[in-house]
Amino acid sequence: MKLYPLFADLHERPVLVVGGGSVAERKAAMLLDAGARITVGAPVLSPALQAWVVAGQIAHRAGTFEPHWLDEAWLVVAATDDAGLHQRIAELSAARRIFVNVVDDAARSSFHVPAVIDRAPITIAISSGGDAPMFARLLRERLETLLDHSLGTLATVAVKLRKRIRLRHPQPAARRRFYEQLFAGRVAGLVRRGRVDEAQAEAERLLASDAAAASGSVVLVGAGPGDPGLLTLRALRALNEADVILHDRLVSAEVLALARRDAERIEVGKQAGHHHTTQEGIHALMLEHARAGRRVVRLKGGDPFVFGRGGEELEFLRGHGIPYEVVPGITAAVACAAYAGIPLTHRDHAQSVRLLTAHCKASHDTLDWPALARERQTLAVYMGVSQLEAFQQRLIAHGRAASTPFALVENGSRPEQRVVTGTLGRLARRAAEQAVKSPALLILGEVAALAGSLAWFGAPPLDEAPTPPRPGCVDRPAGADRLLAAIHHA
Ligand code: SAH
Repeated sequence: MKLYPLFADLHERPVLVVGGGSVAERKAAMLLDAGARITVGAPVLSPALQAWVVAGQIAHRAGTFEPHWLDEAWLVVAATDDAGLHQRIAELSAARRIFVNVVDDAARSSFHVPAVIDRAPITIAISSGGDAPMFARLLRERLETLLDHSLGTLATVAVKLRKRIRLRHPQPAARRRFYEQLFAGRVAGLVRRGRVDEAQAEAERLLASDAAAASGSVVLVGAGPGDPGLLTLRALRALNEADVILHDRLVSAEVLALARRDAERIEVGKQAGHHHTTQEGIHALMLEHARAGRRVVRLKGGDPFVFGRGGEELEFLRGHGIPYEVVPGITAAVACAAYAGIPLTHRDHAQSVRLLTAHCKASHDTLDWPALARERQTLAVYMGVSQLEAFQQRLIAHGRAASTPFALVENGSRPEQRVVTGTLGRLARRAAEQAVKSPALLILGEVAALAGSLAWFGAPPLDEAPTPPRPGCVDRPAGADRLLAAIHHA
């Protein structure tokens, strides 16, 4: 953090503004709003400043700056067009430990004035630390449009009930839920329509009812493959409302960063080989936190119902009478395909897609291998990279051509994404050569060849080294065949 944000109480406190032009005028206006006792020092004042002097709202020191002007000030704003004078004011203020803002001069300022969204009593201040003021202003404009103007009134309704809300809901989680109901429900709607008295009555009714004392709940949320842009709006809202987040290791740091700051985060990750928390342990945690009245988000990579044991977790919650919701996420197959430029279906190449996980251990294997080996279908295989050799052998043994194209997508949708392509006969070898690591998804089928021409995200696919041309052959540049094929399909 470059600057420490703070909101200063300037009510009745002396503040000096040096300068009498339009910039000084803007600064003085905001300080007046905050109730400061303003003195403007300048030889001449703009008409508006002059009018405030006449009305007794601000005081005027006529003339050029003198050090004793600083005597009473808590804050100083330098808003002239004289850089030398600004330097002097900054130095003298620093010597007296008075915070100074030099307009348009971040280096000389010891405090900055943020871009402000005013919904009194709510104030939102945005700063770029002086590095990108234009960006801060644009952000403010965006937020201005997002935040309803009734927000301040709504906060005022809540303020009136504050002490009683605290008494009624001593537990922070229940109190938080009450405020959420206040801000999202009927009360907010009435305030927006300008019916403030009715809103106040409705808030009283809500306070008297038991609605907010309800028990905790669990939301099973799909976090998608890693890129936070692939979260749904509903997932984002659940993350914002969470008291506790039980997340898998696969969930990216960028997604977790979007969760409510003071939500407790518990990693219950499972990694091939070593299980950090058993499934029973996860169940117990969900139960414990939900029973304590908390909102639990069970956050899983991809989609919770695709190889995510979401079904088992819901059965458990149902058995224990805990209310739940499910928010779907973008599953790895869909995300990896999109981010590698591989359409999972294609009129020319594949009419069906299968999502599978290949446990090639005989005891777990219930896959219909002859069906998987059929052509013109896409297989999206979720699994440990260690299974590839067995997978390749079984599929070829059941008749899938060794020349079937594949793409292995490692860290799909994340900045470090890698795509390794080749043909089924060399699948395990290619994965080993390129040291493909988990999480990786295998896409097998004719469509996988399209990665060569349709890739758009991250580094281009790592294709097999082209076989050296035989003597007498026409030497075509690498990729030309695929390019011609793509043109043909288009
Ligand atoms: N519920 C998840 C899947 C969990 S199983 C989903 O819907 O996506 C874990 C497997 O998913 C990994 O072994 C890998 O095969 C795949 N996977 C998950 N995220 C991935 C990513 N970002 N890139 C590639 N594969 C991924």
